[in-house]
Amino acid sequence: MLNGYAGQILRINLSENDIQKQALPVKMAQDFLGGRGFVAKILFDELPPDTDPLGPANLFIAASGPLSGQFMPASGKTHFGCKSPATGGYGDSNMGGHFGPALKYAGYDMLILTGRADQPSLLMIEDERIAVKPAGDLWGMGSLSAETELKKGLGEDFQILTIGPAGENGIAFACITHDFGRQAGRVGIGAVLGSKNIKAIAVKGTGSIPVHDPQALLEEGRRAYRDVRNKPGFSGWTPEGTAGITEWVNRVGALPTKNFQTSYWDQHSKINGAAILRELKITDKGCYCCPTPCGKYGKARTGLGEVYVEGPEFETISLLGSNCLMDEISEIAYANYICDELGLDTISAGVVCSWAIECCEKGLIDQEAVGRDVKFGDLASVVYLLECIAKREGIGELLARGVKAAAQKIGQGSEAFAIHVKGLEWSGYECRNAPGMMLAYMTSDIGAHHARAWVLGHDLAGSAASVHDLIVSEGGAEKLPKSEVKGRAAKVIASQHLRPLFDLLGICRLQFMELGFEVEHYECLFEVVTGRKLTWSQMLSISEKVWHLTRSISAREIKGFGRSWDYPPPRFMSEPVPDGPNQGYCISRREVDILLDEYYAMRGWDRNGIPKTETLKQFGLEDVAATRQNWACHLTPDAV
Ligand code: SF4
Repeated sequence: MLNGYAGQILRINLSENDIQKQALPVKMAQDFLGGRGFVAKILFDELPPDTDPLGPANLFIAASGPLSGQFMPASGKTHFGCKSPATGGYGDSNMGGHFGPALKYAGYDMLILTGRADQPSLLMIEDERIAVKPAGDLWGMGSLSAETELKKGLGEDFQILTIGPAGENGIAFACITHDFGRQAGRVGIGAVLGSKNIKAIAVKGTGSIPVHDPQALLEEGRRAYRDVRNKPGFSGWTPEGTAGITEWVNRVGALPTKNFQTSYWDQHSKINGAAILRELKITDKGCYCCPTPCGKYGKARTGLGEVYVEGPEFETISLLGSNCLMDEISEIAYANYICDELGLDTISAGVVCSWAIECCEKGLIDQEAVGRDVKFGDLASVVYLLECIAKREGIGELLARGVKAAAQKIGQGSEAFAIHVKGLEWSGYECRNAPGMMLAYMTSDIGAHHARAWVLGHDLAGSAASVHDLIVSEGGAEKLPKSEVKGRAAKVIASQHLRPLFDLLGICRLQFMELGFEVEHYECLFEVVTGRKLTWSQMLSISEKVWHLTRSISAREIKGFGRSWDYPPPRFMSEPVPDGPNQGYCISRREVDILLDEYYAMRGWDRNGIPKTETLKQFGLEDVAATRQNWACHLTPDAV
């Protein structure tokens, strides 16, 4: 018995209708903890060579962590993994809600799907009973609508994942949806589930999870809830959730605006957290065991219709809002709803739409090819593009593979303002004068994503106790000094170990990040749950190992992978910010190389960003090092 874990992996080969239950290897739990660690380990060990991300050989993995489903704050996170259709490399995405705990209560720490069902299907997991059932009647239905239908038939005890038309049609930024508004949005994980002909997964678990010391867990869990509630930011942060940061991001000139043409927008107060409270919110909505429900459920009223929707959170506000110049919070919420129903990641969708609109403005795509006039600041334009994309109709066929592929296809200089890294669209922070945050995006292992490391406060303030301190600190939108580029790597690397550690444990990081919830709680809870004593720094070391592993997977999978895959979009290196606090700033190619040189050296990677053999061995990844000569990346002579 492995305390803290359900103890089994559920493996289903959908082509063979072969269902296997495997004991969770103890060594894997010890060496990789769970969640993202399990995803990386399984992908490295089991992904066949040259796998097509949308082919039957790709793996769809859902994994919880040792703290998922436990009596402690915010223990409802689930991690998903695959070879990414967006990047061709390592891919994972995280989701809140209740799915991971339900999977554990059903008896499984991890679900691994391979193959392809012979017809559109629903995967049912009800404790030990597993069934793949025809679901042709749901195919073509929106994600939220499909969940509603399934809940009607199955009841509230089932936790349900669905995909929308975007996942069915293999869109590179298709997400999976759960609990009417929680998404695993990134890397195209929804397209991988769709490629397996799985429309939905329904889980009901009635078992329990073995715990080392149940009485101590009860006491420590209670203490943890009490301490979260006593944090100074507790009552201030929850009402607006992540949207509360919008004002500050704009004030420091980091708000993506008009396809990242600029980073400051004078319409910010119409789309911030206060606007959500004023115009949308009905109630807060949270994940499993969460004391700080950051989801904002509300009603959006627009000229196109009225919808109930969870959101928008900050990333959606910035990419579908300011980046598309949409200055009505209700319109952003409506576009959010359309993305949720179609099954599109709001981050990538916002970047792709804003790129397409800029192409139209510049005459690089003509109106006839689009099918109608599309423009910035117009909800109807954005909704039109989203529907074309999800259904692969008209211009949607060009946009379906993401902004990198679309720009490569039409050329004419449009690559310069296709805002992505490695093929994954850039999320909610513009950072031409935030070199640490820029480096974080450049080196994020799944492509441009903020959740891997967030050092914007450090870039701007030198040091900051917490995001909350920055939010409440006063300051206008005055011109900021040019940030120093050197010396950024250490902070980025530390953040890249810290934030993903929560994804290994299966819990939400926001209580720690936003409220300053102490790490001692996590050390203590981990020990009473698993019986294993690990210090926070030992856990961080495991997180560091996983970072080397995920980079190795991309180096193995992506032909020609190397330094050039870490460069930011040309716009950031050639177009100074035209206005706002960072007016006149951009980052030069020389500065980008300084950032990368420092980062690679500190990581123990070669000058092309490939983990060195000695580095892999240092972290116990001898099996990974042994395969290095066969990777598809650029191996430089000094690293052989
Ligand atoms: Fe979920 Fe938000 Fe709570 Fe985190 S803070 S567990 S994302 S509701």
